[in-house]
Amino acid sequence: MKAAVYHGPHDIKIENAPEPEVKGNRVLVKFKAGSICGTDMHFYRGEWKWMKKGRILGHDACGIREDTGERVVMVPIVNCGHCYFCLRGSPTYCVRGKFYGLTRDGFFAESKAMLPRSLIPLPSNVSDEEAAVVEPVALALRVLNHLQPNLGDWVTVVGQGAVGLLMTQIALMKGCRVIAVDLEDYRLELSEKYGADAVINAKKEDVPKTVRKLTKMGSDFVIEAAGTAQTVEQTPFLVRKAGKVALVGESKGYLNLEDADEAQFFTIYISPVEYPAAVELIARKLVDVKGLITHRFKLDEFEMALQTVDNPAEKPLKVIITN
Ligand SMILES: [Zn+2]
Ligand SMILES: [Zn+2]
Repeated sequence: MKAAVYHGPHDIKIENAPEPEVKGNRVLVKFKAGSICGTDMHFYRGEWKWMKKGRILGHDACGIREDTGERVVMVPIVNCGHCYFCLRGSPTYCVRGKFYGLTRDGFFAESKAMLPRSLIPLPSNVSDEEAAVVEPVALALRVLNHLQPNLGDWVTVVGQGAVGLLMTQIALMKGCRVIAVDLEDYRLELSEKYGADAVINAKKEDVPKTVRKLTKMGSDFVIEAAGTAQTVEQTPFLVRKAGKVALVGESKGYLNLEDADEAQFFTIYISPVEYPAAVELIARKLVDVKGLITHRFKLDEFEMALQTVDNPAEKPLKVIITN
C-alpha cells in the first residue's frame, strides 16, 4: 500500500509500505481524508528531530471501517486504561500510550489497523474533509476547558493558523473577548470574520503594548499557537498577574517571569478526550473547519502538499490529503 514515510527533515516520501497486520480485535480502516498538522511540519522542517526514520506520518484523518462500512474518525492516541495517568483521567500521558503518527505508524497510508474503541462514527452531515480536521478542534476544546475562562475574560491567541483560529472560535463560544495576533493579514481577516474583538498584526504593532492598552492589566489568558520560541518567550509580557498561559504550538524558549507574578504556564499538544465533542460541534455547525481548508492534494502528491504548507506565498491554513 502507499504511505507517507519520514526519512528525515525535508525527506518525506510516498512509497510502498507493508499492508497493516489485523491482529486481535483490530479492524482495517481505509483512508479517506486527512490533514497536515503543525506537528508534521516541525518534523518536516527539522525543528523536532526525534521522529524515527521509516515511520508513517499522520494523526488527523478519517476513513471507512472495512468490517461495517461505517465512516469513522481515527483517534490517534491509544491508552492502557490502568496506569497512573489513565487512572487520574489523563489518558494523554498514559505511560504505555501509543501515538499514531508520532511514536507509531500514522494515518497517511491507504489502510490502518485500528482498535474499534479508537474509532468515532461520523454523522452523514460531516464531510470527509471536515472529518480530516478534528484533532485541532479537540485540542482547542481541551485548552479552553482547562483554562475555564469566565464570561468576558480576555483571551489573547498568538498565531492564527488553523489551530489558533479554532482557539479563537472556541474562546468566543465560551463568551470570552478575543485578541487575535498573527503576522499575516489574510489570517487576521478570518479571525475578524469569526468574531475576534481585536486583531494585531505583529509585523506592524508592538504586541505586548497593544495587549496592555486593550486589557489594562494584561490578558487573563494567553494561548501560544504560533509555534516559535520567540512567541513562547513573549507570553509572560502578555498575561496579567495570576493569569494562565497555554503553550500549544511550541514549548521551547526561556520565560522571563519578572512581571508575571503567580501566572501559570502549561503545555498541551493533543487531546483524545475531546474527540467525540469535537465531532459533535462540527456536525452541529457550531465550529467551522470548512473555512480553514485552503488546499487539497492526493496521497500521491504528499510532498507537494508539504511544500505548500511551507510556502507562505500560498497562504496555507489547513491542507487536506485525500485518497
Ligand atoms: Zn496535530
Ligand atoms: Zn495508561
